[in-house]
Amino acid sequence: MKYISTRGAHKEGVSSAYAIKTGLACDGGLFMPESIPEIDLEFIRELSALSYPERAARVLSLFLEDYGYDELLADAHAAYSEDKFVPSPAPITALSGRKYMLELWHGPTCAFKDMALQLMPRLFTRALRKCGEDRTALILVATSGDTGKAALEGYRDIDQTKIQVFYPVDGVSRVQKKQMQTQEGHNVSVAGIEGNFDDAQNGVKAIFSDGDIVKRLEGTGVFLSSANSINWGRLVPQIVYYISAYCDLCLSGAIRLGDRIDVCVPTGNFGNIFACYIAKRMGLPVGKLVCASNKNNILTDFLSKGVYDRNRHFYATMSPSMDILISSNLERLLYLLFGSERCAELMMELRERGRYTITAEELSLINADFVGYYTNEDECAATIRRTYENEKRLIDTHTSVALSAAERYMDDYETPSAMLVVSTASAYKFAADVLLSLGGDVPENDLDAPAVLSQLTGTAVPSPLLEAISKETVHKAIIGRTKEDMAEAVINFAKE
Ligand SMILES: *Cc1c(COP(=O)(O)O)cnc(C)c1O
Repeated sequence: MKYISTRGAHKEGVSSAYAIKTGLACDGGLFMPESIPEIDLEFIRELSALSYPERAARVLSLFLEDYGYDELLADAHAAYSEDKFVPSPAPITALSGRKYMLELWHGPTCAFKDMALQLMPRLFTRALRKCGEDRTALILVATSGDTGKAALEGYRDIDQTKIQVFYPVDGVSRVQKKQMQTQEGHNVSVAGIEGNFDDAQNGVKAIFSDGDIVKRLEGTGVFLSSANSINWGRLVPQIVYYISAYCDLCLSGAIRLGDRIDVCVPTGNFGNIFACYIAKRMGLPVGKLVCASNKNNILTDFLSKGVYDRNRHFYATMSPSMDILISSNLERLLYLLFGSERCAELMMELRERGRYTITAEELSLINADFVGYYTNEDECAATIRRTYENEKRLIDTHTSVALSAAERYMDDYETPSAMLVVSTASAYKFAADVLLSLGGDVPENDLDAPAVLSQLTGTAVPSPLLEAISKETVHKAIIGRTKEDMAEAVINFAKE
């Protein structure tokens, strides 16, 4: 299977290893497989008998043809081992009224980013070897919280790579900050930026496209790469858990093989929900994809009006991992539905005017699969409280955004299908806001919030978070917010 750019470059196709090593296509587009492999009900039936790592290897091998099945199986076993994902990588729990929750936060950093970032570094080092690359890769990450920690944990102590993370000093939750500041590993660097997430992201992007810096790094035998969800290596592991979830729903008797399910995903960069769309295109019986946003409802507007407009106010919400105005992976959907020429045209409009409009016919094509809902802050808090009181289930702020959207969708459309709601983080990662939503008192020190939440609800703080809270802070660096400040940190770390 060859890979091509969403904007038309690489027409002859590149290998999956090259796409994973490079991250971004040479015309600024994203890599996509030339065609989508197909699965049938028999494939799903066979998969049902397998463990999660085996299911992962089977699905990945359809997309990554230049990786051997044995390589993929070894990597999946290492990534999704029982000591990393407790009790298992992607368990499903039932809620009332044909709703099911797919819990993707049982990994080492307690957010769904682990599902991709435990596997991707392994695919990445193999890609370096397959491409004959002998330089060291420096993975640069700008994070609003969850990606940074998951990438650090995934890439720590991985051969031939270093990882450097920049986070906004006041733009992440207290628990998230502590998780990053206590990171172990011989190849990691973490720095706070005296600015917001946009400053961090703009700095990283500017470093990537600065020829002088790239040359200086070359001199030390280092090249830059990214771990963001624009990389196909991060997207492809996410397809697996939708197919796996369908298997588990069949095994539990919740649905019969062939029944359609609807899926609701809390969405920021459009990566997670797009992975579900690929699974649907492969042949997984999925009905509607409900795209759930928080108060930053740019995608809800796009899915109802066909106008994507990022000239709008940016809100800092209690679901910060979805506070995003540019949903990069939407580009992949535009490409699949409308082709590379139209996709490139729309992306140019976005770059030049900060907005683009699709036609009514194009919008109806998208609406055949996608519907958008957004959840404001009050409703997010109310859903956390209602779900705890009525179902005895503790959910985090991002999951709450999705559950509220799913419930309104089911009311509006009265479909008979089962609804799979994707749960993306442990409630303890956002303990202070969850406590507030439950009507509890938030302690003065936010790092005490998990213990208070645990006491209030009689549930346990996940052990990786307990560990991070009690560990010594080692990464104390705080630097300025300009590109020059960040570039200096990058060059110094590359030399280490
Ligand atoms: C990253 C993240 C999201 C958004 O996922 P996308 O793939 O960016 O749409 C939702 N919830 C949590 C907890 C996250 O960390």
